[in-house]
Amino acid sequence: MTPGIIDTHTHYDAQPFWDRLCTSSIWHGVTTVLMGNCGLTLAPLRPEHRDAMLATFCCVEDIPVRSLASVVPWNWENFDEYLNAIDIGLGLNLMPLVGHNPLRLSAMDQAAWDRAATPDEIAHMQRLLRESLEAGAWGWSTTDSPTHAGPQGQPVPTRLAADEERVALGRTLGEFNRGIIEILPKGAGKPSPADLDHLRDVAVASGRPVFFLSFDTNAWPYVAEGHSRGRAALQPAAGHPLQSAVHAEEDDLLPQPRRVGRRDAAATRRSAAPRCADPERRAKMRDQALKPQRRRPGVPGRLVPWRSIFVRKVKLAKNQGLVDQSLTDARREAEQARRRRHARPGARGRARHRVPADDPLGRGRSRRSPTW
Ligand SMILES: [Zn+2]
Repeated sequence: MTPGIIDTHTHYDAQPFWDRLCTSSIWHGVTTVLMGNCGLTLAPLRPEHRDAMLATFCCVEDIPVRSLASVVPWNWENFDEYLNAIDIGLGLNLMPLVGHNPLRLSAMDQAAWDRAATPDEIAHMQRLLRESLEAGAWGWSTTDSPTHAGPQGQPVPTRLAADEERVALGRTLGEFNRGIIEILPKGAGKPSPADLDHLRDVAVASGRPVFFLSFDTNAWPYVAEGHSRGRAALQPAAGHPLQSAVHAEEDDLLPQPRRVGRRDAAATRRSAAPRCADPERRAKMRDQALKPQRRRPGVPGRLVPWRSIFVRKVKLAKNQGLVDQSLTDARREAEQARRRRHARPGARGRARHRVPADDPLGRGRSRRSPTW
């Protein structure tokens, strides 16, 4: 039994407007969530910056702008008004952070997308942050990660910030001696030594815990060293390795090309295989797989390379040999078995669902690196 789980990374900023109970968290035993992570919040924000911020939020969160725009009432400008707007009988405790992106947009207007801030602009952001913290914000958040791009693929404003900008905002939180800072560093999942030095600088300037989003267990000695010196840099860790399960009979094994047709996802293996062999469909799937991602322009579609998908469980005894093999290896083996059968005198080639032997998605011909 626990009194309730605290979820330290959510993007619930708009969630209360369509799901004020935040049910997906409650169903999992979560009673308190930190929201407003990764520099993305909807306050404090003047009306002229709403569209750009909403589009950025949608881009990073992979939500259609039309869907989010239809539920956000925009009856606020400052953080205090935003807190009132979401105070509509929530189902769990929300601890909202102030996003560095809206602070930048508010202090720098269009220049937020183009350059580092001047000392005056930094002072302006500090004032807005102070005001928001007085209203009840739980800290602030930012991102320097290349995974966070705006609607045209441009870096989100916080990625233009110089280190001193984040250190200055750290000092402002230090005035309150409460709350936390969340930073997604440039190295994202694998912070560089320079990233770790900078996180340390912000932790020292603020005297508050700095959460950095990384699932890299190599960073643990760094976290431990910080603690031993009375400085908290905390690393939310994944409870188990990041993985996604794919079911051969329900999925067509191609996460991105599912968008080609929803019905295909439910197709049985028997009927999916010939479809996958259809040259027209293959061309369409290849196109989808190599298209830039909406939330990470510059990175091709969310394609999981075959070699990183492993068979973990099989239903039929005859497939037992496939367990723990990558799909690439399983495919190679099947192809060799097929050739052996064909080589036998008098054997009739009857590969029922013959998938062309080339790399199914043309990855061998692509210079792009896998993105998973
Ligand atoms: Zn995030």
